[in-house]
Amino acid sequence: MISVDKHCVYKFHVFYGTFVDTPGLGRLRIRFNTAVGVCTDESSNKNGKIEFIKENSENPLDDVKNFDPSLTYSDIAIIDYTHATHSSVFFLPGFVDTHIHASQYPNVGIFGNSTLLDWLQTYTFPLEASLQDLDMAQLVYERIVRRTLANGTTTAAYYTTIDAASTKLMGRICSELGQRALVGKVCMDACSPEYYVESTKESLRSCEEVLNFLQDELNDPKILPVLTPRFAPSCSRELMKGLAAESRSRGSLHIQTHLSENESEVDWVKSLFPECKSYTDVYDSCGLLHNKTILAHCIHLSDEEARTIQKRGSGISHCPISNTSITSGECRVRWLLDQGIDVGLGTDVSGGHTCSILACARQALLVSRHLAMKEKEEQNKERVKLTVAEALYLATLGGSRALDMGESLGSFEVGKQFDTQLVDVESQGSNVDVFPWQHSSLPAMKLTLHTPPLIAQENLLAKWFFNGDDRNVVRVWVGGKLSHTL
Ligand SMILES: [Zn+2]
Repeated sequence: MISVDKHCVYKFHVFYGTFVDTPGLGRLRIRFNTAVGVCTDESSNKNGKIEFIKENSENPLDDVKNFDPSLTYSDIAIIDYTHATHSSVFFLPGFVDTHIHASQYPNVGIFGNSTLLDWLQTYTFPLEASLQDLDMAQLVYERIVRRTLANGTTTAAYYTTIDAASTKLMGRICSELGQRALVGKVCMDACSPEYYVESTKESLRSCEEVLNFLQDELNDPKILPVLTPRFAPSCSRELMKGLAAESRSRGSLHIQTHLSENESEVDWVKSLFPECKSYTDVYDSCGLLHNKTILAHCIHLSDEEARTIQKRGSGISHCPISNTSITSGECRVRWLLDQGIDVGLGTDVSGGHTCSILACARQALLVSRHLAMKEKEEQNKERVKLTVAEALYLATLGGSRALDMGESLGSFEVGKQFDTQLVDVESQGSNVDVFPWQHSSLPAMKLTLHTPPLIAQENLLAKWFFNGDDRNVVRVWVGGKLSHTL
């Protein structure tokens, strides 16, 4: 039914070309003529992992034979993109979407003039409730996984709905289509419409059913469960404590929720939990904050709340398109990063109107400039602005770290998973116009103002960053397997 050719017959793949990644915040690394060797032997525990990286490689076949002389020629596939006549083709780590509601995908772009609380009632809850129809769920979930893959997303932290059966279906779809995913059944037992709410007991039971399915039955290491209390107003203290206990009892499972998105929401939480010092304290006092917790938005936090998040090692999902669309506010990303908190990007479909993390990275950069315009002191104006390299970091390694998966994802390092997109800035139908003298592969003397190749490549990257889209994502691999071709 689902047709993606992802079966490799070769035990080892060598990807050869220009590799671009961000090994740290603001650090852009461009490696030309580089060979990256990836184990694709399904019987090996190294399957999908990068085994060697050889910069300035002249012959990738020699590199792989030097790496492991026991490999025969029939074991090895060389994927060579150095033959491209220009520098527009490069490998980039796959994007990480740290916050996306798969169930809301049909509503992208449909939000009118609403803000969070009326948006939920008018647009969101009715749609989510309707997805207990498994045919509808299949249609929506398959479409969004294909669409996010086509936009270069190799890992996504998904919210589904309160329905266990369709959540299990979502896990299966991600597995079949070859996307790495955290899949979370939404839990909500309070302050919700009659037609879309669970009892505390039922919520915990159906959550357990999904966990058992994802962990024991589906048996795909790429698909992880994530406990998903929707947000404090939709959850009783008992439910939140029950989910925290579930996370602990299964060896620290991921947890995702929303925090401090909208000022009316913050006031509402204050009135619902008067015994707590803050919105963050509601979650903390229930035991929900740890290093595998991902908190979406975090716009209106106090200093003390940020300190608590940092102390617990939780990550933050910055969702700049959603925050602008439903007028939630401007997240102070630099302020969070300065405190040592890991921040990634989230599309927050359908508060956000696109599945594209590249579009979110652009918006993150623009929102930081809005914050800069409000700064009084000149030096702060510069500090709060995010650069292209920083926004790309948030989209890749930053997101991986926010999910506590930075050790295995987000950049090109030996031992990490080969979760990668191949970008062609000048693919057929591309929205990016590159002029002949803008290629880094031209001799330096021909480049504009004698621009050296590295700077030329950075400029090309910036052109793609601001003008590119899914038409430039020509291949996507997850764990060394091809999951999408243009
Ligand atoms: Zn959300």
